[in-house]
Amino acid sequence: MDYQELIEEVYQEVQEENLRGKVANYIPELATVDPHQFGIALVDLKGNVYGVGDYQNPFSIQSISKVHTLTMVFPKFDTQLWSRVNVEPSGNPFNSIAQLEYEKGIPRNPFINAGALVITDALCSKFEKPVSQISDFINELAGENCVEINQAVMKSEKNHAARNTALAYFLKSYKNFDNSIDEVLDVYFSHCAIAMNCVDLAKSFSFLANDGYSIFANKEILTESHARRVNAIMLTCGFYDEAGEFAYRVGLPGKSGVGGGVAAVMPHKFSIAVWSPELNEKGNSVKAIRALELLTNKLSFSLF
Ligand code: GLU
Repeated sequence: MDYQELIEEVYQEVQEENLRGKVANYIPELATVDPHQFGIALVDLKGNVYGVGDYQNPFSIQSISKVHTLTMVFPKFDTQLWSRVNVEPSGNPFNSIAQLEYEKGIPRNPFINAGALVITDALCSKFEKPVSQISDFINELAGENCVEINQAVMKSEKNHAARNTALAYFLKSYKNFDNSIDEVLDVYFSHCAIAMNCVDLAKSFSFLANDGYSIFANKEILTESHARRVNAIMLTCGFYDEAGEFAYRVGLPGKSGVGGGVAAVMPHKFSIAVWSPELNEKGNSVKAIRALELLTNKLSFSLF
């Protein structure tokens, strides 16, 4: 399979479809990005990199960083983690507070905001300098110093933090929050504000295509069993309330972010990152989802 030819074909076809969406603006700084950018990078398990379009431009990875933070925390707590957060798709928007009350302060999964805040809280309990340790960890996964925290995006989200602050207080009222709310929110906004390009993002997901072993860090990041679990959570919960549709149309474990990025893995073959800022009404990148759908159609295989 010539991956370079494949992603160029996909890129071309998506561009011809002229799909449009809306750039996220509830974090004002995200709305300043050029909406027409579109890039794809695919990294195979030998470390070969294939790219097309704006694949070398850094962008705000936002919720995709929730996979990295979950990966840091999971081995520290193992299955005990699941007493604080469930692994069920939510079927609700990413920032919904409604289910938290029905479920008595236990978020539906680690990728909706409530669940990710619990994960960041757990991370703050185990790592002394959480922000720099998250950056170091992602740099290690990508095999180079690529992580930058975009301070303008971080501050912009901090200045529009009513919903996430409410979620954190709500979690605290159910005693599912151990550390200072301000401290954890700062760490959460910082990891959401990480900027990376498609190549480095795809590399940082490579271990999930490779049973937990990173060829870029040259070591096991997660056990094979933990890696399978993270992939299962990505497949069922990685795309907000559109996870079922993504599984149906694309069929790969992955995670999206409101910066317009999607990172996904084809187990035992490759990891891929696609980025284009315009989103559909569920908060997923219109072009990235379409590109991945065309990609698995052309390959004639997916996880299934
Ligand atoms: N930082 C964003 C928020 O908490 C992340 C949203 C996302 O990418 O899903 O609203």
